[in-house]
Amino acid sequence: MTAALSPDSPLAARFVASPNHGARRGHGAPNCLILHYTGMPTGQAALDLLVDPASEVSAHYLIWEDGRIDQLVAEDRRAWHAGKAIWKGDSDLNSTSIGIEIVNAGHDGGSPPFPDRQIASTIALARELSSRLPIAPERVLAHSDVAPSRKRDPGEAFPWRRLKEGGVGHWVEPAPIAGEALFRHDEEGPPVRALQAMLALYGYSLDLTGVYDRRTRAVVEAFQRHFRPERVDGEADPSTIATLKALIETLAP
Ligand SMILES: [Zn+2]
Repeated sequence: MTAALSPDSPLAARFVASPNHGARRGHGAPNCLILHYTGMPTGQAALDLLVDPASEVSAHYLIWEDGRIDQLVAEDRRAWHAGKAIWKGDSDLNSTSIGIEIVNAGHDGGSPPFPDRQIASTIALARELSSRLPIAPERVLAHSDVAPSRKRDPGEAFPWRRLKEGGVGHWVEPAPIAGEALFRHDEEGPPVRALQAMLALYGYSLDLTGVYDRRTRAVVEAFQRHFRPERVDGEADPSTIATLKALIETLAP
């Protein structure tokens, strides 16, 4: 059955029930969107997994390459998509988020482009959700943002710039790539701590160790995937840092 997402919405979704959900814990309305790619060869394989009770994974929405939207879990239920993840200190993101799976084979499938119609539906759905739910632009996140050491989706091929042009998410034009990495592996000192503090202020889960360690590199890589996708290498170069500063400066107070 296909039904409008809300009484005045032009968007419609087919409802394909997934059994994989529970009660949201201790929170009000969802205040964050987490975007994923399915990372499987076909959309059907992904849908089969997301509705299989044995998989114990799900998402609220699935967006096909041609722009069709399936709803798998009711918005007031807690879907199982984020896994072990943290943003701004919140470690139960499944309870505070809406999860959107976007059909795409992902890195392992050669990072195919996301078709225009699929991105148009993603923008329309995100706008529709943001009109009904208290979701700030800077809380439209990648799975990789909230689980940097484990996840790469939706990946650097995902067009965050176009989402921003469509009124979705927080994004600034990345600073041009120039210059070398500023820190060597395991380098230690106040400048490393300052970078970690900026990443943590933006929302990434990162201890201020003052060491350019493995975790810091993973977080820088996640940041680049979302905000400076031309080069994703985990190196804190001047463009990465300038882009991060510009993002923080453009956060609503
Ligand atoms: Zn994911």
